[in-house]
Amino acid sequence: MAPPALRPGLLDIAPYVGGETHAPGAERLIRLASNEGAFGPSPKAVAAYRAAADEMHRYPDGGSRTLVEALARHHGVDPKLIVCGNGSDEILHLLALAYAGPGDEVLYSAHGFLVYPIAARSVGAVPVAVPERALTADVDALLAAVTPRTRILYLANPNNPTGSYLSESELRRLHAGLPDSVLLVIDAAYAEFADAADYSAGQEMATGFANVVMTRTFSKVYALGGLRLGWAVCPPAIADALHRIRGPFNINSAAQAAGVAALDDTVFVGAAVRHNHQARQWFADRLGALGLVVHPSQANFVLVSFAGWGDPESVRQFLKARGILVRQMSAYGLPACLRITIGRSDELSAVLDALTAYPR
Ligand SMILES: *Cc1c(COP(=O)(O)O)cnc(C)c1O
Repeated sequence: MAPPALRPGLLDIAPYVGGETHAPGAERLIRLASNEGAFGPSPKAVAAYRAAADEMHRYPDGGSRTLVEALARHHGVDPKLIVCGNGSDEILHLLALAYAGPGDEVLYSAHGFLVYPIAARSVGAVPVAVPERALTADVDALLAAVTPRTRILYLANPNNPTGSYLSESELRRLHAGLPDSVLLVIDAAYAEFADAADYSAGQEMATGFANVVMTRTFSKVYALGGLRLGWAVCPPAIADALHRIRGPFNINSAAQAAGVAALDDTVFVGAAVRHNHQARQWFADRLGALGLVVHPSQANFVLVSFAGWGDPESVRQFLKARGILVRQMSAYGLPACLRITIGRSDELSAVLDALTAYPR
C-alpha cells in the first residue's frame, strides 16, 4: 500500500543533525558541539523549574504573560510586540509558514544557520543561499539576490557557525535596500555574547519597521536549551499573525517559570558573558599559537580552519576518542573547519592539550 502523498518538496529537506552528545568509551565527556552555556543554567532557573513541578497537571498560561512582562521590562520593549516560541526555531518556522509558500524564495547567507532552508522547504518555498565574503554575510550580494518572489531574508547576527557579524550600519543598509514586501528576520541568538562596539541585536529595527523581526533565545547565554524557549520582537501585524498560527500552549509552564527566573539572575548572565569574552580570546590565541586559523567570533564558539594543518575529520575523531565533542562543518559547506563551543576553561585546556598531542 502506498503511503499518503507528501507535500511536494518535503523530501528535499535534509533533516537537521544536532551536535553529537556521546563519546562511547571515553572516561569523561566534554561537550563543545552545540554552543550550550558553559556553566549550565542559573540555580535560580533550576529552582523555578522544580517549583513548577507540582502544578504540571495545569495547562500553562497560553499567553506566557509573566514571561512576556519580564522580557518587556528587561529589554525595554512593549509587551504587545513580544511573541514566545518553543525555542526560537519554532518562531523561525512560524514566520516561514505565515509569510512564504510554494514557489516563493527565501534568502539566507551561504554559511548561515541550517534551520533557514529547512523552514523554507517545509512550506514549499525555495531556499536561496547567497554567497558570502570572507565568511561574512554580503549585503550587496543579498540585495542583488532579491527577486519579485522573495518573501523572507533570514540573517543570523552574529552568525552560526562562522561567528562573523554585520555592524548596525550594514544591517540598516541591508534593510534600506529591501522592498517593504520582504521580511527581514534578524536571528540574534548570540546577541548577548557580541561585544563589538558597532553591533546591535536589531531590536530598534524590529520596533521601528513593519518588515523586521528580531528573534532571541534562552538556549545560549541562559543555558536553557533543554526547555525550548525563544522569543521575538515583532511589528504588531506580524505578532498578530504568529499568535493566530502558533500552538495555543506552545511554551510549557516549567519553561515559562525558569525563563522568568533566568532573566532575573543578571549576576549569573554577567559572569557567563565575561567568561566568554576572556576565554574566547585566550582560546583563539592559543589555537593560533598551534598554527591554526581561527575566524574572529562574536559568539560563544569559534570556527577553526584545519586547512594545511590536519584532516578535520581525523582531528574530530581524535578529540572524540578523548571524550571531547566538537561540531563537524560539512553540512555548512565548511569541510575544512570544526566549530568549537567556548566551554569552561578546564574544558578548553583539554582541547588544547589534545590538539597539542595530535600526531600531525
Ligand atoms: C542556537 C541557535 C538558535 C536557537 O535555537 P533555539 O530553538 O532557541 O534553541 C537560533 N539561531 C541560531 C543561529 C542558533 O545558532
